[in-house]
Amino acid sequence: MREFTNSLAARADFLLAFFILLAAVVAAAGLIRYILRKNTERRGHVTEAHQLYSFLSDNPFQVYVLVRGKDAFPLFVSDNVERILGLDKSDILTDVFAIARCMEAEESGKLEKLYRGWDRKEPLEVDFPYVNRKNQKKGDAFLRVDYSAGTDVFTIVIEDITRRKAEENSLREKLSHAEAENDAKTEFLSEMSHEIRTPMNGILGLLELAKMDLSNTEALREYLDKTQNLSRFLLNLINDILDLTRIESGKIQLEQESFDLIAMAQKLRAMFQKTIREKNLHFELRVEGFDIRWVTGDEMRLSQVIINFLSNAVKFTEPGGSVILTFRQMEKIENHLRLMIQVRDTGKGIEPEFLTHIFRPFEQESSMIAKKYGGSGLGMSIADNIIRLMGGQIVIDSEVGKGSDFTVFLSLPVAEPEESGAREKEVRSGRVPEQEEEFWYLKGAHVLLAEDNDINARITMAILDKAGVHTDRVLTGLQAVETFTASEEGFYDVILMDIQMPEMDGWEATKQIRKLPRKDARFIPIYALSANSYVEDKRHSMAVGMNDHIAKPIDFNELKKKMGAAVRDSRNAWNASRKVGVEHKG
Ligand code: ADP
Repeated sequence: MREFTNSLAARADFLLAFFILLAAVVAAAGLIRYILRKNTERRGHVTEAHQLYSFLSDNPFQVYVLVRGKDAFPLFVSDNVERILGLDKSDILTDVFAIARCMEAEESGKLEKLYRGWDRKEPLEVDFPYVNRKNQKKGDAFLRVDYSAGTDVFTIVIEDITRRKAEENSLREKLSHAEAENDAKTEFLSEMSHEIRTPMNGILGLLELAKMDLSNTEALREYLDKTQNLSRFLLNLINDILDLTRIESGKIQLEQESFDLIAMAQKLRAMFQKTIREKNLHFELRVEGFDIRWVTGDEMRLSQVIINFLSNAVKFTEPGGSVILTFRQMEKIENHLRLMIQVRDTGKGIEPEFLTHIFRPFEQESSMIAKKYGGSGLGMSIADNIIRLMGGQIVIDSEVGKGSDFTVFLSLPVAEPEESGAREKEVRSGRVPEQEEEFWYLKGAHVLLAEDNDINARITMAILDKAGVHTDRVLTGLQAVETFTASEEGFYDVILMDIQMPEMDGWEATKQIRKLPRKDARFIPIYALSANSYVEDKRHSMAVGMNDHIAKPIDFNELKKKMGAAVRDSRNAWNASRKVGVEHKG
């Protein structure tokens, strides 16, 4: 029994020891876990602090500085202060005012003044130019200082705003450029309005006089002549204004066609021969150094420029003086011909001061010029724009009282020489029909006129009536198609087609007429009569199947000549098609 009791006591001791040991192990594990957790937490804090530190120091644009308020002790400076401002971090950690070393003395003085007057309630903000002390690069910075009274800490952020500032400056520049352009447009409009009103005033006044003097035929003729002159001047002015605005807005298209430079020079001479003779001027055309005549470009526009030079030369040179037009081939580089075209006069010359703004629209040397010589001061501006569009340059040399040189330097692609034009050939073979002969074909011709404007239609019909033409007038493109469809084949000789009309425009009407299943639909000459006379409009008219594009106001002599020739040709074609029985294919 005693043995049993002893063994029981031994087991109890053992169990007690076991439980004490177990408790110790559990406690130790808890302690270890606690220590481990604390350690991890601390390491976490260390990592976060590290991340924050790298974030602040790697920031490409902003430098951060924390400063203790009571003694201006720098608590933190981000590393990027070295890269962005070129300052040593250690210097700032010793003395926070070392930051000012990246500023010019004047700027740091300004900042100091601002700081002294700062109430610390709102952040202190200032822009200043800085110099990176390491690479001497200049830039712009934005500085912001906040003060937290609770912690007695200043937070300073210095941001590099060089790029933003440059963008702002460029935007500001663009804005002021746009504003200047806008001002120039307004000025242009008011000058234009003045220029248009002056002749308009004359026209209306003369018509009023004519109405008051209806029985005096001689006076009436004089009023009408003057009205016609002023109207022509007005038309030229409007054409110039439109030309200039279209060129300036980049809407103009240059032709790219081959032309003969020497022929162009000769045409210019022929154009001015009469005026030059009448004014008793000596004129000379010099063609120098050409072994290539054919180039590709816009002959009409280039001529327009030289015509402006020549008319000015004639206008500003007194009788007895001389005008010399020179065409010179300078050199050939690859496939391009460099040439010089110059108009030289011995006229009044130009003051050097005016030469600096001669290309500005509506500029004339003085108000006396308009009174004595007329003109509106648009020609040179147009000329300059055209030549620049062609990639060339105008150079002016002038001396008051001696004369002026207007020179175009231009490079144009060389073109294959073309056969002389058909008309030239006709001239040589003596087969050119006389004007009278062309007019003769108009007698008894039938014309279909599509025109919605009553006054225009009345004028056209009255003039054609005098030439012996029977005209049927319709008001829309659709009516033109219907009337033509309803007519007997070959009845109409010509169709004159306005472009902008209600219901259907002239281009669409032409397309529909050309598609009609009848022989004369292919041959009938269709002429566009349009107030739009730009290259694109002309191209479009030709593309839809019209034979020509005649600009309004219509030159009726020109129109009658064209119509006469067209009636003759289309009658021939019509007769030929009937003889050989050509079938319509469309
Ligand atoms: P416009 O001849 O209609 O006045 P331009 O633009 O062609 O306009 O010329 C502008 C101004 O330049 C003229 O009004 C004149 O003052 C001056 N000018 C142009 N060409 C000559 C020239 N050959 N001789 C003297 N002055 C000229």
